[in-house]
Amino acid sequence: MSLFEQSSAELRDWFLQHHLPAYRAGQVRRWLFEKRAGSFDEMTDLPAPLREQLAAEFQIWTTRVAKHRDAADGSEKLLLELNDGQRIECVLLRDDKEHCTACISTQVGCAMGCVFCATGLDGVVRNLTRGEILEQMLHIQRLLPGPGRQPAAESRQPERLSHIVVMGMGEPLLNLDALLPALAEASARNGLGIGARRITISTVGLPDGIRRLARENCQYHLALSLHAPTDALRNELVPANRGFGIAAVLAAADEYFELTGRRVTFEYVLLSGINDRPEHAQQLVHLLRGRPALVNLIPFNPVPGLPYRTPAPQATAQFAELLTGGGLNVAIRYRKGDRISAACGQLRRTSN
Ligand code: SAH
Ligand code: SF4
Repeated sequence: MSLFEQSSAELRDWFLQHHLPAYRAGQVRRWLFEKRAGSFDEMTDLPAPLREQLAAEFQIWTTRVAKHRDAADGSEKLLLELNDGQRIECVLLRDDKEHCTACISTQVGCAMGCVFCATGLDGVVRNLTRGEILEQMLHIQRLLPGPGRQPAAESRQPERLSHIVVMGMGEPLLNLDALLPALAEASARNGLGIGARRITISTVGLPDGIRRLARENCQYHLALSLHAPTDALRNELVPANRGFGIAAVLAAADEYFELTGRRVTFEYVLLSGINDRPEHAQQLVHLLRGRPALVNLIPFNPVPGLPYRTPAPQATAQFAELLTGGGLNVAIRYRKGDRISAACGQLRRTSN
């Protein structure tokens, strides 16, 4: 049985069923989430026979680190191998001393087929389980100096994961049944203790999934991958759009804001000559005007074999100015860790 597939209540029940004190379940969880233990042997305040019993019953890790790459900017990328041999990616992004973000995957591959994305090139294999999603965060946390780990340098303070972005491989809203319990563990005080407002779910924009997330009202931040201001262009770049259209995506996003009070971010990958012309900026202003929206411009991160190009920094700045001039809030996000293939899906492709 995999330990990370169990909720806190389920683990407690297991202890009670085995006539063991319930507080032991809390001790095990503290070892895993706070003290970053990797095995039952390390849980030194548990009696040795109990450690043996736990080891016989539970497997802690179902994933293993197959590859670990560092980038000069402090980001690190892990390629994880799952029980069935499939591989997924997760990334640690360091923005500054206080910001350590885990970027995690929700599926092996992706069925949405966005034309500029490495993950979508081979379609989807399967959804990840809640345990596999949670293990990514814990593997990333174990890269940080902290309890049980040697600080990387004398001066380094213990670090904590401060944010989670669900922006790795896969479409999160097609796997909410596993993602929501995993994120509940991430935000729980007796889990990783990362506040819901520091957790971002990025989606291609499936209206039904957005509505479900709105009703759950977990206070997660929603990022919507728009990439085009008209249906004609979005249908080409984001084929999933053909099934519902931009109007339905925006209506669902509005509902998300109304029900949760949380401002939605719109992501826009800039592809040179394709969706970065002045008329696209004007159409985007027209589309989003009046919404309390932030637009994140992401210059295309080149994917080997794909014909798209990254706009010049000047063209990106001009596009941003047109949006700002039209009254939108805009940020330009250069993706970190490019040299470790941090646009998710790339390391997996080069390693197969
Ligand atoms: N499926 C979800 C989350 C994973 S993709 C989604 O699409 O939102 C996370 C973000 O990375 C999305 O905004 C996606 O459009 C963007 N992305 C994918 N490929 C990229 C590339 N080659 N360069 C820059 N951004 C990319
Ligand atoms: Fe899937 Fe997101 Fe990539 Fe589109 S951008 S193919 S939705 S992972």
